[in-house]
Amino acid sequence: MTAVDDRDAAPAGADGHAPLVLPVSLGPGVDGWFTGRAPADAPPPAVGAAGNLSHRRPHEPPRLAADRRAAFGRMGLDAGDVVWMQQVHGAEVAVVDEHTPRGAEVRGVDALVTVQADRPIAVQVADCVPVLLSSPAGVVAVAHAGRRGVELGIVPATLAAMEDLGAERASVAAAIGPAIGGCCYEVPSEMREDLSDDHPVASGTTSWGTPSLDLPAAVAEVLRDAGVGDVARVGSCTRCDDEDRWFSHRADPTTGRQVGVVVRRGGQA
Ligand SMILES: [Zn+2]
Repeated sequence: MTAVDDRDAAPAGADGHAPLVLPVSLGPGVDGWFTGRAPADAPPPAVGAAGNLSHRRPHEPPRLAADRRAAFGRMGLDAGDVVWMQQVHGAEVAVVDEHTPRGAEVRGVDALVTVQADRPIAVQVADCVPVLLSSPAGVVAVAHAGRRGVELGIVPATLAAMEDLGAERASVAAAIGPAIGGCCYEVPSEMREDLSDDHPVASGTTSWGTPSLDLPAAVAEVLRDAGVGDVARVGSCTRCDDEDRWFSHRADPTTGRQVGVVVRRGGQA
């Protein structure tokens, strides 16, 4: 799938540049996006990485605020409305409802689900797999699926929480965002075997010939096996993308985070 780069239309972020913003198709009445780095010609910040949208990574507060305003403004959102997660590589899911404050960071969860309109929810990643989900029943979700999350079943847990709110799996649309691929996610061979026992499609080999895991492929298979009818892949390997569009923890452990965002628009069922 070719990612659409419409950063030229983006409002200026810090230093006149905005992070990359890719729209994702998730059905009528629902909008989704994945972000990426700021353009290569953006001046580097004194602290952190250009286009980083996470306050948990090294950053200059005014620059982070400007980049968030620019990125979420490009989505037609107010950056202060976005509900975040303090992700822990687990399998807990939280429901965002009328009691959840705008701009909250929900602690200790790796997925958010909501039926509320105009409540954007976000996942932060730099190699782990970000997943956006939506159902015609008016349920949307974000999930953070790293190796541990896949092992613990964060994706089935998210689907179960969506079902509790009225979603039917067969009509759910899912978008898997930019994540490290089997080409680059080198792991010890025992680790590859452990995950491959339950997810054979996850067994990979790096481009340099060592054992690896293909987490995006595993997540896609989990979604399809669970009955999700529409599974799309967006973006490319975070570590070896030709245009260096994504943050990658493996490439640079001090780097920033891109985000995946989904929102159900008001007035839609
Ligand atoms: Zn790669």
